Amino acid sequence: MAIQPIRLFGDPVLRTPAEPVVDFDKELRKLVKDLTDTMMDAPGAGLAAPQIGVGLRVFTYYVDEQLGHLINPDLDLSDELDEEGEEGCLSFPGLAFPTPRAIRAVAKGFDMHGEPITLEGTDLMARCFQHETDHLDGVLFIDRMDAKQRKLAMKAVREAEWSGLSAPAVKLSPHATHGRAL
Ligand SMILES: [Zn+2]
Repeated sequence: MAIQPIRLFGDPVLRTPAEPVVDFDKELRKLVKDLTDTMMDAPGAGLAAPQIGVGLRVFTYYVDEQLGHLINPDLDLSDELDEEGEEGCLSFPGLAFPTPRAIRAVAKGFDMHGEPITLEGTDLMARCFQHETDHLDGVLFIDRMDAKQRKLAMKAVREAEWSGLSAPAVKLSPHATHGRAL
């Protein structure tokens, strides 16, 4: 097990676009393992490398008892949206808000051995692929909300006990996210 501290909103690494993976080596396999262990420990439904301070285009997911990872993802999204689905983020512990997302996503990329893979997801899985790929672009779920919802979310963020603590040493609550945070 190699559980890493999860970076919280306010940490600049979460706003920094991640670099594509070029070397599918032992270091990359360790990163996938660290992400998986950290996500399962939280617990969360997804985790992107920048959330543990690594600027590479890698994420892991655990949705509907399906565990996996994707490297250098490229998404193709349905036009149909789920406007009301609640979404959380492990970098915003304990908070969840309605966030519009495409209902279906096809995610192309690579596994940790460099083999091309295509994943298809609907509902929470599709939401997860979009949320995690956004993390790799320095985009956060608050950016996907309409102005009114974002205002409510930012008020909750300011009032959260972890607000202003961007240090990686903060351990988040394993309870409040109901295992759905990303
Ligand atoms: Zn997140």
